[in-house]
Amino acid sequence: MEKHGLIMVHTGDGKGKTTAALGLAMRAWGDGLRVLILQFIKGGWNYGELKTIEELGKLSEGRIRVEQCGKGFTNTGKVSMEEHKAAAHEALAKAEDALTNGQWDLVILDEMNYAVKYELVTEEEMMALLDKKPADLHVVLTGRDACEKLIERADLVTEMHLVKHPYDQGVKAQKGIEF
Ligand code: ATP
Ligand code: MG
Repeated sequence: MEKHGLIMVHTGDGKGKTTAALGLAMRAWGDGLRVLILQFIKGGWNYGELKTIEELGKLSEGRIRVEQCGKGFTNTGKVSMEEHKAAAHEALAKAEDALTNGQWDLVILDEMNYAVKYELVTEEEMMALLDKKPADLHVVLTGRDACEKLIERADLVTEMHLVKHPYDQGVKAQKGIEF
């Protein structure tokens, strides 16, 4: 099978963008790919997937790994925009390293679209990062409101469309479903 490294985007206002990226990570790992997940914005939250991936990493000499590179949500007021920007730029540097160091086959940049939306990194910085992607490496970018430039550049764009969400009916986050 010819290897064509894809740029894949999960965007839209419905739930499932990160979940789908993690599902792809499971599939890729099962097929022997080396998978790195870098999470922009997210930080300090012990999501279920962190535990799963830690266990899978142990089973496979670190062939799958996840790193939270953010400082939590942007609107809590506890963390300044400068701190968020600095964290996003560290994540960007890590992403560049991950794309170019030959250690990974699939790199997931979770919530990167939000980092651009909230101006923690610029569209140009994101596009410059993608310019460095080797031809055979797959990348997934998640988050609502993917910018036009990214949509044009991507090979695959899936929009999750909100039909119903339990939060709107007052149902709180459920363990194992949200975090
Ligand atoms: P998930 O991580 O569950 O796949 P996601 O990546 O599609 O969700 P994000 O925009 O990253 O969605 O937001 C993550 C959180 O916001 C999740 O807890 C999710 O349930 C919640 N969320 C996503 N979409 C909606 C929505 N349309 N209304 C309310 N909450 C939502
Ligand atoms: Mg998400």
